[in-house]
Amino acid sequence: MTLHGHKTGFGLPPILRSATADLLTRRGAFLLEWVHRYGSPLNLIWPDALQENLAALEGTLVDSRIAHAIYYGAKVNKSPGLMQAALAAGAGIDVSSLYELRDARRLGADGARLVATGPAKTRAFHQELLDCKALISVDSPEELEDLVALLPADGGPQPILLRLQPQDQKKNRFGMPADAVIHSLARLAGENRLRFDGLHFHLSGYRWENRLAALNETAELIAEARQMGFSPTIIDIGGGLPIQYVDEAKYQAHLAAKAPEDYRTGKIPDSFYPYGGALSAADWLRELLQAEMSKGPSVARYLVREGLTLAMEPGRALADQAAISVFRILRVKALGPDTHVIFLEGSSFSACETWFASEFLIDPILVSATGAAVRSSPVRAYLAGHSCLDEDVISNRWLTFPTAPRAGDLIVYANTGGYQMDLLENEFHRHPMPARFCVTEDAEGRPNLVPDTIGEV
Ligand SMILES: *Cc1c(COP(=O)(O)O)cnc(C)c1O
Repeated sequence: MTLHGHKTGFGLPPILRSATADLLTRRGAFLLEWVHRYGSPLNLIWPDALQENLAALEGTLVDSRIAHAIYYGAKVNKSPGLMQAALAAGAGIDVSSLYELRDARRLGADGARLVATGPAKTRAFHQELLDCKALISVDSPEELEDLVALLPADGGPQPILLRLQPQDQKKNRFGMPADAVIHSLARLAGENRLRFDGLHFHLSGYRWENRLAALNETAELIAEARQMGFSPTIIDIGGGLPIQYVDEAKYQAHLAAKAPEDYRTGKIPDSFYPYGGALSAADWLRELLQAEMSKGPSVARYLVREGLTLAMEPGRALADQAAISVFRILRVKALGPDTHVIFLEGSSFSACETWFASEFLIDPILVSATGAAVRSSPVRAYLAGHSCLDEDVISNRWLTFPTAPRAGDLIVYANTGGYQMDLLENEFHRHPMPARFCVTEDAEGRPNLVPDTIGEV
């Protein structure tokens, strides 16, 4: 099928949970009213989605009878409502700044529910982590010394993990190689104010096979630590569990058909997140747990046999389906006989993959302001923010709209909760930051907005 010489039929409609699909298809008037009232872009959050994601992961762990601790990687989204939902469901929080720590504490988290896995913690952050005895993952021998220097003389045992840099991650700057882990253990042997609870790693990429390799290395170090007289209880595998944004078959068809002319830049980005992966986060975890370690039993059997708790810090995977971003179209401008640019109001640096030389490979959804489908031929356009920076582009990919988008209509990006919402957002041109609300249901089942702030949720 061609449209003015360009192929269509390789679209990437987002997978939607029913609450979102219902809002987009049947209750567009609510969205229009909310954007009218609170401005564009408008970020909407469904904290209950995070709880469903958490329950799916826990189901897998309970099936395998594995002691576990799931910490929500809070940096993925600025929403206190999502943090609150994680805590209410019994999960912990991975805080990576003083400010995330303070928010989690204000939401009622005590130190036992908190872990700090970030690589470069400030002294003030260390201090407040120590004050509440949150679990601290130590990234380097240098960090270990900084921490020791802060310990009170009579402090009770402060729990720590040591972060391993697995062998195939030598190029990144996070964690320490196995020999530095051993070295740090020797240092810990003489420091009884710190309690070595176990080992941690967090890998970039989304393959469980890499976690299996890192687990094999970790198991060796756990054995060595035991020989040195330590009693580790935790292996922490970090985050990086996947989200399925679009149907796998549609995604594969899209990738197979993609061409440079699909992009206004004339260039296909070098890499994409695996938007249409084969595994849900829970399936991914099950694959990992069932996989065989190099010395025999499955990961699940190893953990149970060794009496180890499996800790993890999923960020993106817990935010799956938990948010959408709603933009109002400011102007549709013709660029040529066949091409347009759609300017989105107030948005700079949302849905920000283009800033990482990539692309958020899901199709946005058009919500018409008039409700009536305007008869027109399909329109080909890319999406730009409202600023005067040439790079302020939300989609470099040419998008095809079956009916012509118009000023005042809404463009909705689904599933923006994981790093796609307001990661790079700022007050450029002094335009206010986007509003963010949690969506709840009123007594009549109608969607209702609650401010997503610590006082309200
Ligand atoms: C960002 C981060 C996470 C969460 O990663 P996701 O890909 O969002 O699951 C977990 N652990 C560490 C150390 C991180 O830096």
